[in-house]
Amino acid sequence: MYLMRIESVWIGRGGQGIVTAVYIVAHASISDGLYALANPEFGAERRGAPVKAFLTLTDYFDDSPEPIKNPDVAVFLDDKLIEPMRVVVDAVRPGGYVAVSSGKSPEDVAKLVGRRDVNIAVVDGIGIALKHVGLAVPNGPMVGVFARVMGIPRLESVKEAIASQLGKAVEQNFAAAVEAYKTAVVIPASETGSARASVEIPTTSAFLTGDYELVGWDKIPEGGLAFPGSSLRYKTGSWRVERPVIDHSKCIMCRRCWIYCPDDAVLEVWREAKGPRGRSVKVKSIDFDYNYCKGCGICAEVCPTGAIKMVREI
Ligand code: SF4
Ligand code: SF4
Repeated sequence: MYLMRIESVWIGRGGQGIVTAVYIVAHASISDGLYALANPEFGAERRGAPVKAFLTLTDYFDDSPEPIKNPDVAVFLDDKLIEPMRVVVDAVRPGGYVAVSSGKSPEDVAKLVGRRDVNIAVVDGIGIALKHVGLAVPNGPMVGVFARVMGIPRLESVKEAIASQLGKAVEQNFAAAVEAYKTAVVIPASETGSARASVEIPTTSAFLTGDYELVGWDKIPEGGLAFPGSSLRYKTGSWRVERPVIDHSKCIMCRRCWIYCPDDAVLEVWREAKGPRGRSVKVKSIDFDYNYCKGCGICAEVCPTGAIKMVREI
């Protein structure tokens, strides 16, 4: 018989500190006298790729933990992952929480979540992280939101866990967690719904990459390619937190951005511009392929004239 058990699934992107976030909550909860089991799971191990982590908190020792299928809490560090990870939202227990880091209004996030039988917590995690830490990394704020909606771990324990897990910028990250704790907007569930969620999280990694068909080894064509695996199909531009924007008047066409972009997302295009005596002329210019730009910011970093600025997108 369980006394207390909180199961949570955390969804974010490589580089957003999602693994650190669950370790901070686990560490802090252990300090508060609970047991914690934290399991991150990776797909493509690179910045921007979707990452998920499972975290179970109990007040008893669980010697046979089951995979989480119907979490009490789903924590999203990026609202653009709600749709591709719809199964996680749908699997939250009625009466549970969906916590989202988003710059959108709480009402718009509630529409994205699309369920009335769960509580929805919204905070501008990136805005808060930029303010306190100077990085677009919303993990600290979402730790604060988790502590707010679940009532555990205690903020004092969160600070100690941040110190242990990060070892630096402790005050800044703790300030970000506290601000999110205080300012998260919680939209309560307006319907009770059934006792059970309509779906369960599959125990394969399939839900991390979206909808695809699992085929047996004997169905894969010899020398063929099993989807997923094609950038034609997977437009990785949705991984972005910030997008590059160019000021053509400052660009000297040195092409350093084109050379350094790791994703071939810097393009040379012909652009209409005003020429001598106001005539319309075509000039070679730099543009970006936002279908594949992951917002790493390298182009802005290497641009010698400051022509590229990174602009927040979520
Ligand atoms: S931010 Fe710049 S360098 Fe990075 S992927 Fe986008 S275009 Fe390429
Ligand atoms: S690095 Fe800057 S100046 Fe050079 S081509 Fe790119 S945008 Fe233009």
